[in-house]
Amino acid sequence: MTKTDLIIIGGGPGGYGAAGYAARLGLDVIVIEQASVGGTCLNVGCIPTKTWSHEADILRARRTADPTATIDFQRVRRRQQEVIEQLRNGVETLLSAPSIRLVKGKAHFIDAHTVATDEETFEAKHIIIATGSEAKMPPIAITDTQRVMTSTELLAIDHVPESLVIIGAGVIGMEFASIFQTFGSKVTVIEYLKECLPTLDSDIAKRLRKSMEKRGIDFHMQAGVTAITANGVTFERKGKQQTVSAEAILIATGRKPCLENLRLEAAGIAFTAKGITVDEQMRTSCQGIYAIGDVNGQTMLAHAASMQAIIAVNNILGRTDHIDLSIMPSAIFTYPEAASVGLSEDFCEAKGMEYTCRKGFFRANGKAMAMEETEGMVKLIADSDGKVVGCHAFGAHSADMIQEISSLMCMGVTIEQLRDMVHIHPTLGEILHDTSMIS
Ligand code: FAD
Repeated sequence: MTKTDLIIIGGGPGGYGAAGYAARLGLDVIVIEQASVGGTCLNVGCIPTKTWSHEADILRARRTADPTATIDFQRVRRRQQEVIEQLRNGVETLLSAPSIRLVKGKAHFIDAHTVATDEETFEAKHIIIATGSEAKMPPIAITDTQRVMTSTELLAIDHVPESLVIIGAGVIGMEFASIFQTFGSKVTVIEYLKECLPTLDSDIAKRLRKSMEKRGIDFHMQAGVTAITANGVTFERKGKQQTVSAEAILIATGRKPCLENLRLEAAGIAFTAKGITVDEQMRTSCQGIYAIGDVNGQTMLAHAASMQAIIAVNNILGRTDHIDLSIMPSAIFTYPEAASVGLSEDFCEAKGMEYTCRKGFFRANGKAMAMEETEGMVKLIADSDGKVVGCHAFGAHSADMIQEISSLMCMGVTIEQLRDMVHIHPTLGEILHDTSMIS
């Protein structure tokens, strides 16, 4: 039996973030990881997809000079691997600190203070579960499994498929749709709901979808997939059945927490199908045990996992912090990009809130014109006291613009105060300032 201060199960952004932070604050840490460090984010999530979306941006830029330009997919794959390996080396270096031990293996609970792999047993007063999530398969009859992939398999594909059907118009589905359309695939998206990206302001989401439609992506909204066979994907829309054939089919219908094999019952840790139940400090129902990141099902984003890691370690050490997880910016790296933080206009309306909504457009902005990126819109939401409570946007570099509003929301800034803040000219950030000036 090996004793330590803190055991962390999972070496993704939640797990390695918690390990690095806890070690800096003086704890001895054991991280148990069954696969490669870096987790979903680094190996099969944020990093490879953003490497591909960057390649798509470059290809689009090249096409302005040469409309016949095509993608060298083998080069893209090599670069994807290089980026992953470089970042993975960085995480391995972080986890090689003297007070951290990285153990390879699949961990499960023996009791509330004991965790084991096949080879070794570990004991600690504090345990953080950071086992992440995996693709959730919909209850569809699938008779042709060869062409059906999750995002993980699609990221390992060795060529650009001629045609790609994507089931699900959430963040992952939309990002891959945008990337593969640019790479040259014929892309079809089938979605059960009325609109894509349900957490985004519906006006912004619709404009983004229309923009992607204009570029050649077929969307079938309010369509329920009934079967995947050798003939293709069959779906029902408004009582009519249709089948779309495709070389590759991506299932992007959401993700579920990785709970299997952990034997949570052995430690008495409460969980639901959505994830491990936690309070605001990331504490589970079992004293001394925390659950952070995708596995608690609160917000499946890498930066949420990283910040929850800090909260959990602070709680272990009795430190206070002022992290406000309700202000959680997020981005969709499609073309055009979209991003949001805080309340949407739909939410304010549905709750009957008193609010103001100011709309700004990229087409009036000098930098956007210079960049030939005039498509885009910002919605800035304030409450009845004028406090900024949300911002939803689509257009070039929306994520960076939303980051500014996110920081201002953390400081409780009002529209009046935003008006008094100087913005560099010419920048896309001026769109935010101009929008705040609307009375
Ligand atoms: P993970 O990163 O999933 O890490 C969990 C780790 O635990 C894994 O390495 C796993 O092997 C290990 N593990 C599991 N069970 C055990 C066990 N029993 N014993 C030992 N080890 C175990 N988020 C963003 O913020 N921005 C993006 O742009 C973005 N893009 C994405 C694109 C895709 C295609 C996908 C799939 C996800 C994307 N995400 C993005 C989400 C992001 O990847 C996750 O939110 C993030 O990785 C969660 O971090 P985590 O530490 O909770 O879990």
